[in-house]
Amino acid sequence: MSPPPRKVLLTSVCRPFGEAVGDADSVGYELLFCQVTRAQGAFSPRSHHIHFSLEYLAENLDCPAVTLQYPSRRELVRELRRGYDVVGVSFVLATYHRMKETVALIRKHAPEAEIVLGGYGTVLDDAMLTPYGDHICREEGVAYLRKLLGQPPLQKPYRHPLISNPLRIFGQEISRTGIVIAGLGCPHACDFCCTSHFFKRKHIRLLPTGRDIYRVVKRYLDRDADSAILIIDEDFLMNRKRAMEFRDCVQEGGVPLGVFAFASVRAISQYTVTEILEMGIDGLWIGYEGARSGYAKQQGRPVGEIFREFRDHGISILASMIVGLPYQTPEIIQEELDGLLDLRPDFGQFLIYGPTPGTPFFDRVLRENLMHPEFAGDKELYCRKASGFYAMVQHPTMQPAEIEGWQRRCFEEDYRRLGAGIYRAVDTMLLGYLKLKDSPSAFFRAKAASLARMVRKAYPAFLPGKLLGPSERARAAVADLERRAHEALGAPTVWE
Ligand code: SF4
Repeated sequence: MSPPPRKVLLTSVCRPFGEAVGDADSVGYELLFCQVTRAQGAFSPRSHHIHFSLEYLAENLDCPAVTLQYPSRRELVRELRRGYDVVGVSFVLATYHRMKETVALIRKHAPEAEIVLGGYGTVLDDAMLTPYGDHICREEGVAYLRKLLGQPPLQKPYRHPLISNPLRIFGQEISRTGIVIAGLGCPHACDFCCTSHFFKRKHIRLLPTGRDIYRVVKRYLDRDADSAILIIDEDFLMNRKRAMEFRDCVQEGGVPLGVFAFASVRAISQYTVTEILEMGIDGLWIGYEGARSGYAKQQGRPVGEIFREFRDHGISILASMIVGLPYQTPEIIQEELDGLLDLRPDFGQFLIYGPTPGTPFFDRVLRENLMHPEFAGDKELYCRKASGFYAMVQHPTMQPAEIEGWQRRCFEEDYRRLGAGIYRAVDTMLLGYLKLKDSPSAFFRAKAASLARMVRKAYPAFLPGKLLGPSERARAAVADLERRAHEALGAPTVWE
């Protein structure tokens, strides 16, 4: 007789978060408001980013599994009292201290349960983790957990849960995004990149083919035809065969999508903008990093050419830049920031070059003794501050306060010069509408109609942008956008 199935609880660390309760500025809970659009106040879109991985793991176990996303301590204790054999805790470096609190509650209220630590926080060494976990998952989680629980291996594609993330602007829900977990890891091996080195610089295709990805997308669309889609894959466009098969499926489906994905310049350079649009992509996160940073992933078409062409075709870009790279001086940061802002990304993220265990940069920091003493001597403090908002490493020419000051300045200048990201994104949609509305392709005309609906939906948001934007230039840009939108799509109705 086989043993009875074990009951599994999978939880993130407990809320609340924030500087007021001793956390770093951003711990991934609200990636937009706390990180990307942190300087934009009320103009920031709001969306909570749960640990999608926990839902994914639960879906792929053959035993009862419950998930908790950022529970309060009381909610966690209440759930623990229901009795669990195994409790998985997911955390990142910056929530290491919260993991310890969570584990203490588990030990107290479910002393018999085995604890499994997972998430990117497990890049820490055993000495920092074994006191808190009976098991440490440092690999792809489904295979790991099934093996631990004595369940037979699953073939990929694994089962995929439907997870929808609402996005609010000015307190109103404006869209829901279906999360598609397509892959883990990345072969580009940038020296600072935790996720790439965590998976040994390999790309793990959780959804092996383009058709597998589309099947999940289709399930979201069947549930909600207006659902936006986020494909989680570090460099979705790198595998051309898979991406082009996805495009074929989207074209067979004939319905324009709103897909946001992550892609490098190198991967993007394998496609024409038409091919990318045919995949339903209308938003990309691109690592700009720094004009002189020289990462292999940046080889390909000139970045300015890509940004301009994509914007002109209605593809929004979230560009991320690194501050504090060894070659950067204040003058170079300013020059690189100017270069990036000239390309008018819809959103910009600016994080400090930071060392994460398991990466070549971290190894170099240890080898050359570059960690500032306050962090080198206090690993807990290092973890707490490992959020991309603290300069932890000696820089050839700049002091930590100077680097952190430049980071703030980058966020502020991005906002002051280009205005709030929400208006920049609407502007890109309007450009896309104008470009595609008369296309000979019915698919693109349908996409244009969908972009037009989204621009019209933004009509009521123009007024606060015109009145309260961060600078005269930004306020004028919203007024100009409003004028062009009305000219292209008509004046607002009484309801708008
Ligand atoms: S391209 Fe992005 S995901 Fe890939 S290694 Fe570089 S930073 Fe990491």
